[in-house]
Amino acid sequence: MVNHQDLANYCADYLNVDQFKDYCPNGLQIEGCQEITNIISGVSANLALIEQAIDEKADALFVHHGFFWKNEDTKITGIKRNRIAQLLANNINLFAYHLPLDAHTKVGNNIQLAQKLAIQSPTPIGDTLVWQGDIDMSLAQFGQVVESATQRKPLILGDSNKQLKRIAWCTGGAQSYIDHAINVDADIFLTGEVSEQIPAIAKENDIAFISAGHHATERYGVQALCQHLSEKFDLKHQFIDIDNQV
Ligand SMILES: [Zn+2]
Repeated sequence: MVNHQDLANYCADYLNVDQFKDYCPNGLQIEGCQEITNIISGVSANLALIEQAIDEKADALFVHHGFFWKNEDTKITGIKRNRIAQLLANNINLFAYHLPLDAHTKVGNNIQLAQKLAIQSPTPIGDTLVWQGDIDMSLAQFGQVVESATQRKPLILGDSNKQLKRIAWCTGGAQSYIDHAINVDADIFLTGEVSEQIPAIAKENDIAFISAGHHATERYGVQALCQHLSEKFDLKHQFIDIDNQV
């Protein structure tokens, strides 16, 4: 059992929250009950996940995508009202960690995805959010690795026989960071999403590209964080995956 403020303080320290300029507040976004013993993790704080947390009698819900994004309407109306009302009515704390959870070197989305894909020597590229590492297989073979790890068919751009040695990647919607991959001479860039201009950019730079799903690539950080917290504070933890094709 742990007090919700103590848990927020621990996570702020563990995830180096102060070091990030982010698009949302990182930490305890919605205050619920004081004492926490049962936590649920998930990718995004949508109503389906909140309803499952209620069914599981969770004291806290941990997500990668929470509320209160910059540029979003600040009024608490419509679906935002419904989500927040359900959390408040059921005394569930909502903890959200965005960029600090992408970047963390143990439980972060990028390092966790690297482990799922057996990427060797994973390391961040300078002070960017993009990582690089080593693999040794063809694009077709690596596509299979990605598909079986994520249980989802990725979009693959490039010659399937191309031999891959250096990979750069960034979980989520990071397709515009392909330049960082090109700058380190990566053979392939992998991220969650894709945009219309990417096939031509990839082809003209002779770099393969995989879009493996925004949701699919960001399932692992929040699970690893909550696994760590459950061991540290003796909490019950369960990850709930709300299916998302994007
Ligand atoms: Zn994301």
